Amino acid sequence: MQVFDMIINGQPVKAGGTFDVINPATGQAFAQVQAGNATHVDAAVAAARAAFPAWSRTSDKHRQDLLHALGVALEEDMPALMELVTKESGKPLGGLNGIGSGMEVGGAIAWTHVTADLELPVEVIQDNDEARIEVHRKPLGVVASITPWNWPLMIAIWHVIPALRAGNTVVMKPSGLTPTATLRFAELANRILPPGVLNIVTGESGVGSAIAKHPDINKIVFTGSTPTGKNIMQNAAGNLKRLTLELGGNDAGIVLPDVDPKVVAPKLFGVGFHNNGQTCACLKRLYVHDSIYEEVVTELARIARHTVVGDGLAEGTQLGPVQNRAQLDFVNELVEDARANGARILSGGKARAGNGYFYEPTVIADAKDGMRVVDEEQFGPVLPVIRYSDIDEVIARANANENGLGGSIWSKDRAKAAALALQLECGTAWVNEHGAIQPDAPFGGVKQSGLGVEFGRYGLEEYTSIQTLKVMKS
Ligand code: NAD
Repeated sequence: MQVFDMIINGQPVKAGGTFDVINPATGQAFAQVQAGNATHVDAAVAAARAAFPAWSRTSDKHRQDLLHALGVALEEDMPALMELVTKESGKPLGGLNGIGSGMEVGGAIAWTHVTADLELPVEVIQDNDEARIEVHRKPLGVVASITPWNWPLMIAIWHVIPALRAGNTVVMKPSGLTPTATLRFAELANRILPPGVLNIVTGESGVGSAIAKHPDINKIVFTGSTPTGKNIMQNAAGNLKRLTLELGGNDAGIVLPDVDPKVVAPKLFGVGFHNNGQTCACLKRLYVHDSIYEEVVTELARIARHTVVGDGLAEGTQLGPVQNRAQLDFVNELVEDARANGARILSGGKARAGNGYFYEPTVIADAKDGMRVVDEEQFGPVLPVIRYSDIDEVIARANANENGLGGSIWSKDRAKAAALALQLECGTAWVNEHGAIQPDAPFGGVKQSGLGVEFGRYGLEEYTSIQTLKVMKS
């Protein structure tokens, strides 16, 4: 079994104990990683702190060149990284609509190159006889990245590359459920970057809270659940760490009566079920107009029954297992609650017998606001479909949720749909699409879905502080 070490100051580090990483398709361990603790966090932060002055003084061009080299290294290692992502997260190599570990690693490569090329130009606010005023963007110092289990490698890249590009040094902590691809990325990166610039510590949540409380970390970028984000925010207050928090979502999609159910259903299915619904910005609550409701749910259930569920390493698999047992049990609990409260389970509605954490793709008709599967982030291969008849009322219902990550409107009338999309209380609103992100467009949550944004210039700026320089001319 492969054993992965932590990397601190460019060196492999063992912790004196390890823990298993489970392949959710088999329920069996396939790798072991180090059971690090707060002492390792201290060592990693000290290494990052020591590396910061030299790294932050390197030229933009030098940092860009090294990050592009890292993108190339990821590309060369793509097959091995894809296999690790599939084994640890369960997502298929290919996947539903091509959304699988190939896309995860390919996305990691693309984000690395696009982010490497971003610039942080000095802005001139005033330049006259009296004074010149410039706004400079300076790195913050040591940035800590804490990542979840659903898109482990891609999210690590989203955190680390802009942090490094802006001149910060980094300590990473991947989810204990999915650390292996991130560890391999850290190993590749440490062949390219100077020692101490990128460190990685593995361990259970004690490592995360040691990071959140650490007095010598300047910023935390966290992607994960809302309760953990709140806990980090409290612990980070000690030294007023900067925070980017990408938290839970419970995205609504609203289908207007003018669409063709047969055309729209496969698209809705794709954006609701890819990666088994375990994507923060998957479509998780679907509101469909009464006039086309039965046709849409019937079509969604037909697609669900024809979807190939299995081990992500097998060719042709569209959906893999749910990533972990606790998540599988939670999804089951919400579906049973909906069933008990009168919803119709049109497809799936049960776990598969045997090894692995498989759950049948589940379409729930006659779901209602107030049911747990609608109100809570279910994060599984389940889509509750809710009937509506009045558009103003359904916008209010979609907004009546503490989350605000994404939302979508589906219609042939793009102008009308765009106007409605702007009424959704969410960080990104799509028309005839959902969850589609790209490295140059900002992405983040409002309300309890988070703080700040990632990607593009807006995202890069979150890894900097502003220094204003005023030079008097007389
Ligand atoms: P989680 O909050 O359980 O864990 C996330 C990370 O935090 C893990 O590395 C974990 O070890 C660590 N952690 C746990 N307790 C901690 C603590 N007290 N202090 C510091 N770190 C701690 O989340 P998860 O279950 O791994 O991921 C699923 C969640 O992530 C979902 O809610 C999903 O919506 C969210 N998510 C959000 C986005 C986004 O961009 N908004 C993207 C992906 C996932």
